[in-house]
Amino acid sequence: MRFCSLGSGSSGNSFIVQDDETTLLIDCGFGLNETVSRLERYGISPDQLNAILLTHEHEDHIKGAFSFANKYKVPIYLSHGTFKMCKKKINNNYDIHFNIINGTQSFMINGIEVTPIPVPHDAREPFQFMFVSKFKSIAIITDLGFITNHLINTLKEIKGLVLEFNHDKKMLIDSDYPQSLKDRVSGMYGHLENMESIKLLKAINYNGIKWIAAAHLSKKNNDENLVRGLISDATSKEKELIKVIDQIKGIDWLNV
Ligand SMILES: [Zn+2]
Ligand SMILES: [Zn+2]
Repeated sequence: MRFCSLGSGSSGNSFIVQDDETTLLIDCGFGLNETVSRLERYGISPDQLNAILLTHEHEDHIKGAFSFANKYKVPIYLSHGTFKMCKKKINNNYDIHFNIINGTQSFMINGIEVTPIPVPHDAREPFQFMFVSKFKSIAIITDLGFITNHLINTLKEIKGLVLEFNHDKKMLIDSDYPQSLKDRVSGMYGHLENMESIKLLKAINYNGIKWIAAAHLSKKNNDENLVRGLISDATSKEKELIKVIDQIKGIDWLNV
């Protein structure tokens, strides 16, 4: 199984998980044409996708999802809460197959087992996801205010981990963001600050991990090299295993 990203950050998030027979798009935070051209970079044609999974209703995760699903006839998997919050954005004449998922049940898409992981975030019913195929696992964890025991337990033996490193606490406090936005981002239902993400890394068994990819970095309130340094100090992993996903360039294929 392998992973790549079309880009990650507050201007749009989109990820691919693929095994021999299945290609999944996780979130579609770029517009329709932008998504198609970013998929091309990785040699993926839109009609090759087996499903789109949506984590929650925020624009940076769903922007092109419905027009894309309608045009290329790709089924969408999402929670009831996410579906409800997106309803206004789904054009009446769209013909999309929706699959409602719940947070207590894993499900299969061809040979890939998908486990939804409920996370604390200011959305109606947000999930992040873990994928298992042939005993290999990848998890994509972004958009959460703090780490939970359930998350730690689920990720215990993970082989490829995409993890939010949203902001540096001090950079956010010192930033020119209005106080209300600072409170939202740093709140219990906001985004992970660097040291909270490090806490998660230390709590799971990262010895067998193949790579760690930092995602959803704030352009203003974080720094790529700071994040690389923190992960490297916390895990003693070689530099090649530590990745940062770029908003524009995304990240190229990573295998587990
Ligand atoms: Zn987001
Ligand atoms: Zn969000």
